[in-house]
Amino acid sequence: MGIKSIETSMNEKVVKKMKINYKLIILFLMIISLTFAGCSNIAVENGEYRNFTGEINGDNLLEVIEELSSDIYQGRLVGTKGNERAMDYVINRFIDNQVDFNEIIGDYVQDYYQLVNMNESEMLVEILNHDDEATTRFIPYENYREALFYPECDNNVEGIAEMILITNVDQLKNNTEMLKDKFLIIHKSLITSSNLYELFKYADNADAIGIGFNRDNKYNDIYYVKSRSMTKEVHINGFDYENGIACFYFDDPSMSVLESACENNYKIHFDLNFQMERVKTGNIIAEIKGNPGNETIIVGAHLDHIGSNNEGVFYPGALDNASGISTLIETARIVKNSKETPKKNIVFIAFNGEEVGLIGSRNYTMDPVYDLDSTEMINLDMVGSERVGTLSIESGGYASNDLRDDLIEIADDNDMENDFGENGGSDHVNFAIGGAEAVMLINYDLSDIHTPLDTVSRNIDIEYLKEIVDLILEYIDKTAY
Ligand SMILES: [Zn+2]
Repeated sequence: MGIKSIETSMNEKVVKKMKINYKLIILFLMIISLTFAGCSNIAVENGEYRNFTGEINGDNLLEVIEELSSDIYQGRLVGTKGNERAMDYVINRFIDNQVDFNEIIGDYVQDYYQLVNMNESEMLVEILNHDDEATTRFIPYENYREALFYPECDNNVEGIAEMILITNVDQLKNNTEMLKDKFLIIHKSLITSSNLYELFKYADNADAIGIGFNRDNKYNDIYYVKSRSMTKEVHINGFDYENGIACFYFDDPSMSVLESACENNYKIHFDLNFQMERVKTGNIIAEIKGNPGNETIIVGAHLDHIGSNNEGVFYPGALDNASGISTLIETARIVKNSKETPKKNIVFIAFNGEEVGLIGSRNYTMDPVYDLDSTEMINLDMVGSERVGTLSIESGGYASNDLRDDLIEIADDNDMENDFGENGGSDHVNFAIGGAEAVMLINYDLSDIHTPLDTVSRNIDIEYLKEIVDLILEYIDKTAY
């Protein structure tokens, strides 16, 4: 998942305040009448359900997040053993809760194939002195990270090269033969928020062997891993990196080390070892069939995350997105326990391949089990944050604003701090494109995103997560029966 502006929602908040005061009075009267009328059949803070019994169980939520963010799953990169184990784990949770698979698929897994940028081992960048001895070895993701500009970049290349410090664009435009087979160090003064690709292209056209940008966009002093996401074109056409160039971002301290290494005519040794692989994987689909089932509510969340460096560092992905999967499973458990048969189909989907380009949800929407035109999709991506108490309710496009507004109303009724907008960046987008109404629930807590710090203890508030399960249950309770 990406970032969004909040200004627009400020004056809506004023209107909301008035709405809340008016609703508070109503609520107060309702509580009075309820106290005297006797309590409902589900004891959670905010919601009262007509069709569900039992309690939202925080231990269940925590167990799933702790499990999926543990080292057994090695960061759940699609196509890896860790991801397959995570798929089995989720399937077993649905089986435990007796939530069935779809008869047409005949299994819990909707198979598909996709490309994944796998890494064999950690990347390496170091400076070599005149005797080819390493004087400085930079630390991956602390000092630098790879920058994969598809399709021209090379993601699997090792090289030793002379470095040239580029402080003027003309150096890239004129006498390019000077740049051939060199490693170009691009000074910060040349970089704007929009010319990276243009500068990269100059280096590529000059047959440089590599390029390093001074770009210090770290979170918590760590670069977040972005090496897994690929462009749609690469997913469709594949990727030939035979003649590409290696590309990296370096932080400020590393940049000054590189600049003085250039002055000393030292060399750079780099080793990037990703491997593009086509893997068989799948989305996990479980359902509660409705009667007559002409309409469908999908509750979705992506299961995959960004994997490991295969050298002992893995990315737990507790908030992104074990939190969404735990919400999915607990919601399914409570809905399945209902004695009532819903009118609408209620479908739970754990998508794969989200981190590498929303591939699982695209495969589902290209071959949907239920008609997208009569589908409402609620996507959970990074929910129950320890730090960010605002739930952003984002529609996948204006056609989904009704669903969004219905969820906002429940959130308001439950006094859940929320804001809203139209935003993509996750699996709901493919559903909106396909004609379904699709909304994402997200806490924009980017502090530890795609870093080894995205752990349960640092990022998850289980009591808050229960409120989010309650929000979804209230919506299903009100609209599916
Ligand atoms: Zn995510």
